[in-house]
Amino acid sequence: MTTLFISDLHLSTDRPEKLALFKKFLQGPALKADALYILGDLFESFWIGVDDPRPPNQEVIALLSNYSMQPKTRLIIMRGNRDFHIDRSFADETDCELIDDLHLIELDGNSVLLMHGDTLCTDDREYQRWRKFISNPIIKWLNLHLPLCIRQKIATNVRSYTVEQSKNKSPEITDVNEHTVKNIMEKYKVQLLIHGHTHRQGIHDVKLGDGNGKRIVLGDWYDKDCVLIKDTNGFRFQRIDDYLDATLT
Ligand code: MN
Repeated sequence: MTTLFISDLHLSTDRPEKLALFKKFLQGPALKADALYILGDLFESFWIGVDDPRPPNQEVIALLSNYSMQPKTRLIIMRGNRDFHIDRSFADETDCELIDDLHLIELDGNSVLLMHGDTLCTDDREYQRWRKFISNPIIKWLNLHLPLCIRQKIATNVRSYTVEQSKNKSPEITDVNEHTVKNIMEKYKVQLLIHGHTHRQGIHDVKLGDGNGKRIVLGDWYDKDCVLIKDTNGFRFQRIDDYLDATLT
């Protein structure tokens, strides 16, 4: 049983080599996995709908739908803060299972909590206010019903706003808050949490009321090209290139 986790690919036409890597991954080793989880921020630009023809959206949708069509593959996607507005029509076109942020799965009989990770960064009050606004149902409804050209304008503005906002923030503020992590793991009674968003790849110990837990942070597809692999040997990180090579032999 092999389960793969990736997040924060930030696919865009600015980095065609990552799109090519994603393609190789989906058409190679990912085909042999029992499940592939994408935990948010698959796209770099703010997602506004499947009708947005700007590249690489349609190419990525085609890649994903091709992947889902293969025998035995299971594609599970969680929204990130770039793709809050991924909806039913995206799931229909890619044939993926869309899961909410905060999703519990069973791995080897243990309960594992999956999140994108941005809601754990509670020290960043400004960001949390912004998230509350952008993910509220009225905004989501508007995003579904406004004409494409207006949504494209909004997406561009959102992008420049978020770039501006993140400029002067210290690394501590944009990382997860340890208390928030502990509280959420205790609330959901899990010893393992997997998330992305911060791009700070690593495995951390978490002291819980009833023992020790672990928090696994996925790396991005800028310099880490990270995949988290769970198989009979346990969990391990690998660079996508190495994973491609290893599965060739
Ligand atoms: Mn994110």
